[in-house]
Amino acid sequence: MADLIHVRRTCRLCDSPDLVCSVKLAEVPIVSPNVGTENDPSGQRLTRIVAPLDNYLCQKCGLNQL
Ligand SMILES: [Zn+2]
Repeated sequence: MADLIHVRRTCRLCDSPDLVCSVKLAEVPIVSPNVGTENDPSGQRLTRIVAPLDNYLCQKCGLNQL
């Protein structure tokens, strides 16, 4: 399976690599009936794939982005 999550290392507006983490947030699970779900031994559904939500500030153009 192809990677579901890609973390950019450059600004999505100006393509500068000069990004700093401006807000660090907890990862969140991707909730979809089609992605990364399995049942644990008791039959409960598990969501095993999480996505990062950290915000990054571009030092060149000022864009704040996920
Ligand atoms: Zn930028």
